[in-house]
Amino acid sequence: MSALPFVSFVGAGPGDPELITVKALRRLREAAVIVHDRLVPTELLDHACEGAEVIDAGKAPGRHCLGQAEINRLLVDRARRRGRVVRLKGGDPGVFGRLAEEIGAVRAAGVRFEIVPGVTAATAAAARAGISLTDRASASAVTFVTGSGHGDGDLPALDWGALARGRGTLAFYMAVSALPAIAEALTALGRDAGEAALVVERCGRPDEQIVAGRLGDIAERAQRAAVRAPALLLVGPTVAAASTTARHVAITAAAG
Ligand code: SAH
Repeated sequence: MSALPFVSFVGAGPGDPELITVKALRRLREAAVIVHDRLVPTELLDHACEGAEVIDAGKAPGRHCLGQAEINRLLVDRARRRGRVVRLKGGDPGVFGRLAEEIGAVRAAGVRFEIVPGVTAATAAAARAGISLTDRASASAVTFVTGSGHGDGDLPALDWGALARGRGTLAFYMAVSALPAIAEALTALGRDAGEAALVVERCGRPDEQIVAGRLGDIAERAQRAAVRAPALLLVGPTVAAASTTARHVAITAAAG
């Protein structure tokens, strides 16, 4: 007989396979079924037990493997048939991870669930760049923002004036194609074009790239460096400390 239906929504961390929690690893080892996203480090799947079913629900841009409704159905179906299901998501499952929709489906089906948090890309990127996201004197808030609206390069419907005026750190996820539009919207609404900005691409992976600049030129610098998703944009007073650190990280990485 299979175990009681149970879904663990598990954070896989940002890409460095060591940045996963002990609890998350235990859930991976115990799972009868693992349904994972594209951004999840593949090394982590080696922890699956023998006989576990591993399903790639990854959505490459322009190539939809499984639609959201199919994933929702799959989680419920596998939990009922096989017991312990791990839904493995990049970073933290509750940050731009469609977690609310999946919880809704699981709850509606009467299946029990838990959330195992993970290291989100913003904190991992800040760590790699050697900066703090907050600062007692200059950054009393940190805001996680999606840079992706409904169309390619479109901005999401947000109070951009409030984002521009706020004193603190802005961390934009899914920001690569909208970089020029984000920078323009913030500066047009009053954010200083000279404020420090940083793009961190594939942080924690061997091909990580960190591009430092200012709000006024970060889009151009990122384009020159051929930055691609997944990448994160950080803007704010504490980011200024990163330029030399970022160089240090790059040199260290090159030295191996
Ligand atoms: N749940 C994830 C975010 C999913 S949205 C988390 O908590 O991190 C996907 C976006 O996350 C990407 O477009 C990118 O902006 C960011 N991201 C994820 N992994 C990243 C990485 N290794 N380096 C930089 N950005 C990353």
